[in-house]
Order: sequence, then structure tokens, then C-alpha cells
Amino acid sequence: MAGEPQNDCLFCRIVAGEIPATIVRETETTVAFRDINPQAPTHVLVIPKAHYENAAELAAGAPQVAADVLAETKAVADAEGLDSYRLVFNTGSGAGQTVWHAHAHVLGGRGLQWPPG
Ligand code: 5GP
Repeated sequence: MAGEPQNDCLFCRIVAGEIPATIVRETETTVAFRDINPQAPTHVLVIPKAHYENAAELAAGAPQVAADVLAETKAVADAEGLDSYRLVFNTGSGAGQTVWHAHAHVLGGRGLQWPPG
């Protein structure tokens, strides 16, 4: 069920402390940790603790938590000293989503091209 922890979800297992991650921030509703395969000097993932498959499901099912995730992306950027940064919510396999637990990528610390690939 949406919002409930899933045993087979990598990010639910990070939330549960079953899989190690370099956690940079945590709130009642969110966790932020460094991406294992960073694409920029700062590459942090901000996730809701509750399980939603993607950002759209999170926004529909738990709008306050979606707002918490966005607020945390700003807190991460501030903590990392980033003036410019990019937020990415890959949604669907065609857009590059590989982990089916909503997450915001916070990318910064280098120049970023537009449009993305
Ligand atoms: P997506 O491709 O779904 O938008 O993003 C998933 C991200 O999760 C990828 O950038 C990938 O490097 C990261 N990732 C996958 N497995 C792990 C892991 O075990 N630990 C951490 N910290 N990041 C992971």
C-alpha cells in the first residue's frame, strides 16, 4: 500500500538502517544521503521516509511530505554551499528512474548543461 514500507525497496531499507548510506540530513519525514554513483561534486538524494513510487504519487498521496522533501533539497543545497544546483525527479524508466521510491536528486558543484540528455 502507498506509504507503507516495502521489504524489497532499496530506499525503504536505507530508511530502516538495513543498508548503509552516507546520511547528510534527516527529519521526521525525510532522509537525505549521498548518491553511491555521484554525477557531480554534490549529488545528494532526498527521499520521503514513506514509500511512494515516484514524485507524482508522493505529491498526490502525501502533499505535506512532498513539500518537506522540497524544503530539504534547499537545506541540502545550503549545507553544501551551493548557489546554483539542479533538482531532478526522474519519473518512469524512460526518464531514467531506476529506484521505485520517490527521490529528488540535488546536483551541484560544477557547471550543468541544458538540455539534459
Ligand atoms: P534514479 O535513476 O532512480 O533517478 O536514481 C536512483 C539513484 O540511486 C541513482 O543515482 C543511483 O546511483 C542511486 N543508488 C542506487 N543504489 C544506491 C545505493 O545502494 N546507495 C546509494 N546511496 N545510492 C544508490
